[in-house]
Amino acid sequence: MNTAGPAATAIGDQPVLSFVVPCYNEAANIRALHKRICAVMAARPETWECICVNDGSRDETLAVLTALHEEDPRVRVIDLSRNFGKEAALTAGLDHAQGAAAIPLDADLQDPPELVPELVAHWRAGYDVVNAVRLSRKGESLIKRASAHAFYRVFNRISKVPIPEDTGDFRLLSRPVLDALRQLPERRRFMKGLFAWVGFRTTSVSYHRAPRQAGQTTWSYVRLWRFALDGILSFSDAPLRIASYLGLVVSLMSFLYALNLLVQTLLFGNPVKGYPSLMVALLFLGGVQLMALGIIGEYLARVYDEGKGRPIYLVRRIADTDNGRASIRAPSARE
Ligand code: UDP
Ligand code: MG
Repeated sequence: MNTAGPAATAIGDQPVLSFVVPCYNEAANIRALHKRICAVMAARPETWECICVNDGSRDETLAVLTALHEEDPRVRVIDLSRNFGKEAALTAGLDHAQGAAAIPLDADLQDPPELVPELVAHWRAGYDVVNAVRLSRKGESLIKRASAHAFYRVFNRISKVPIPEDTGDFRLLSRPVLDALRQLPERRRFMKGLFAWVGFRTTSVSYHRAPRQAGQTTWSYVRLWRFALDGILSFSDAPLRIASYLGLVVSLMSFLYALNLLVQTLLFGNPVKGYPSLMVALLFLGGVQLMALGIIGEYLARVYDEGKGRPIYLVRRIADTDNGRASIRAPSARE
């Protein structure tokens, strides 16, 4: 048996590696992904499980997953009660991972399982987090690539914890990192930020990102914009500061303008002029105030959301492995 590095072998029944796959309408991709994982892992000593989280899919995803679980009990299925979004689905999968390390994968084969040996090699060398950095993103539009590029740069300028650029959720996370992530109670989960926030020894490998195998992305630009906003507002208070600085600048300018008016009145009297300047000042100030209120509102909405303290996701059913045999059960209270 291979004993090199941390937890190189299975502890009792626990697998060494947990693949975590959030699935939303991925019926056409799951079997192909499973085949690729099996092919890669056939040549490896590590035992593994594949946790597929069905995030309220509307197609045959659940049926495909359940059938797969019956054929191969290493596939465990967490069926969420509705669509909670990718971040919540990923959280559910990571919460249920039993392995000594977990590797989140997209179901659409954009993240190649063939990279796993490299990720594991770095883990064995003592790293807790091994990021997979995209060298290229095939099959994605120029606008998407450009906006993603801009997002990483803006985020890292204003966030206290930088996130690695061009890195998705595809990475290896060791058990200490998984345990640390479980301690983060926030409901709005920007996973990339959380992965970076927990820290630990981190390294990266690079790969070329393939286009989506089948089906369509569910991330519209509106959804991506909200996601980006969530990320920035969860990890930075710079927008609040911008609002106050803007206020300061505007007040300074108005003070100077008032001074100017005073001097002019003293020197030249007060001919009734100034309607345009009045309007400009009024509208400008109104705009600045609304913007500042909007920014405060965005943060407040998030405080409200967190304050409600609802769970991040709800599990309807779990197709689990019981002594090596496939079984379907309701979640326990803890889950
Ligand atoms: N996904 C999910 N819930 C959602 C949307 C997406 O679990 O509400 C999953 C999806 O099945 C896929 C991964 O998240 O495995 C990435 O989604 P997608 O490929 O649509 O995003 P993109 O690769 O275009 O960023
Ligand atoms: Mg994709």
